[in-house]
Amino acid sequence: MRSFFSQVLVSNWIFLLILSFTGSILFFSEGVISGDYKIFLFMFYFIFSLFLTFHLSYKLATNVTEKLSLIEKKTMAINAGDFGNLISIDNTKELSDLANSINSMSERLQNQFKDLNSEKEKFNFLLENLKEGVFAISSDKKILFQNSSVPKSLISPNSSAMNISDSVQNKKLLDFLNQHIDSSFEGKLHLESGKRFYKVKFYALKSNPILFIGIITDKTEERETQIFKEKFVQSASHELKTPITSIKGYAETLHQKINPKNDSHEKRFLDAILRNSDRMIRIVDDMLMISKMESHKTFFQPEEIELKDFIEQIQLTVDGFLQLKNQKFKIEIQDDLKLFVDLVLFEHLVLNLVQNASNYSPENTDITFKAERFENSINLEVVDQGIGIEEIHLGRIFERFYRIDHDRSRKTGGTGLGLSIVKHIVNLHSGKIRVESKLSEGSVFKINLPIDKNEFIV
Ligand code: ADP
Repeated sequence: MRSFFSQVLVSNWIFLLILSFTGSILFFSEGVISGDYKIFLFMFYFIFSLFLTFHLSYKLATNVTEKLSLIEKKTMAINAGDFGNLISIDNTKELSDLANSINSMSERLQNQFKDLNSEKEKFNFLLENLKEGVFAISSDKKILFQNSSVPKSLISPNSSAMNISDSVQNKKLLDFLNQHIDSSFEGKLHLESGKRFYKVKFYALKSNPILFIGIITDKTEERETQIFKEKFVQSASHELKTPITSIKGYAETLHQKINPKNDSHEKRFLDAILRNSDRMIRIVDDMLMISKMESHKTFFQPEEIELKDFIEQIQLTVDGFLQLKNQKFKIEIQDDLKLFVDLVLFEHLVLNLVQNASNYSPENTDITFKAERFENSINLEVVDQGIGIEEIHLGRIFERFYRIDHDRSRKTGGTGLGLSIVKHIVNLHSGKIRVESKLSEGSVFKINLPIDKNEFIV
């Protein structure tokens, strides 16, 4: 097989040889040919060389263009997804090399297509058989995909290519989707549809063009168990509260009736009954508080407060228990700090942290409440100069009923539920809480709360 260059070269040489050969014949025969024929001979030579030039160029050009058109057809077929037959060109090296590389590209593409198709099939099978409903929406608000687990009551089946306003059946979901697509924001939504409860997570994929993916999880069973648990805790707490309150009442009456001496057994026993019934009442109240918070739907009502005013208002209550240990409450709050909180819960949070700070600090120490703005949030700190917390306990003190020193906690009247309630309240406000502490030096409980209530994850 020759290269195109050598084909042109060889053809040119043969052409020149033929021309020189015919030229020499004409030159030598010039003497024997009469003058009239000379012009005829010259014309013949001229036409012959023209014809030969044209023939040669035509041959070379058609040879190349035919093969190029073969290659073009093949590339067009590949473009249309038809990987069909291989092309074979076997007389021009450059074109044959080009054809071979197009053939191998076509083979490689065909294999990649097969792999892609099988991956797509696997992916579709997986999506279709997912327990969760999955749907995709384009930035122009059209449904691109939905699997069969998407509840009909939320999105009508077979809504592909339809606008969400025509296919989404639930008004709350539609508003949520419109709002999140317009702002390209991700988010979560809890929904109730008929007797079922759903959680929708919405993601914005940073592809080009941007794509939105929603995942719907049926939370009905979980919610029913939670409701059952809440009801159980609520009724158990109410049932317990009545007998405990009457035990306390009887113990107080008995105390008044027999008026025991200070160092008598009777006084010690009655004091223990009163102390423990108080603690049990607090535990029951804390359990009720947790149960109420877990059903935060009706419970959580954030409103705007001016932080300094709010803390100054509860200072009287704080001073009430700090006086017992001659401790001082210091307030270091930036002016004009406003934030959205549920008043009852936030007061509970502050009082709980300050009460702990007081309980676990010696007399004559300071407890400081600090607050300052940090970007779009507020950093709060409750700082004490108390006994501190060993590092191994730091990660666990927010767990329910976790107490470092049971005896000390009992003496201070602790239930072991205080910090878990505080953490729950912080979570309800979409905030974060952590603690830094050094043994015998003191602890700092640090909370970060978003200012804007729109950032609350409901
Ligand atoms: P309790 O009702 O026992 O105080 P909490 O949940 O409020 O329960 O706190 C859990 C444990 O964390 C407490 O038992 C105590 O040991 C420790 N703790 C809480 N606050 C402080 C603090 N300011 N200083 C030292 N230890 C603390």
